[in-house]
Amino acid sequence: MKARIDSNGLLLIYRFNHWKQQKCPYAFSSVHFGYCGDHCPQFGEPAPQDYPQYRLRVCNHLLEFDSIEDFRGNARAALGGL
Ligand code: SF4
Repeated sequence: MKARIDSNGLLLIYRFNHWKQQKCPYAFSSVHFGYCGDHCPQFGEPAPQDYPQYRLRVCNHLLEFDSIEDFRGNARAALGGL
């Protein structure tokens, strides 16, 4: 699986030929925007040193990806295989 953090810090996962924004199951208000991203204190940072498994902590779960693209700060950083 591939992951992307867009320029707004929102998490997308590539599923079945499409990038899909990931919704937060705990979103109860517009404060969360309804989506998972780095506006949340439970959203981790990509850990490129963990190659070949690129890991991202989301809530208390460690998600593993083949690659992670990070578009924050108007700079694109590709971690793994892109
Ligand atoms: S890290 Fe968890 S609680 Fe935070 S926005 Fe993502 S899914 Fe929701």
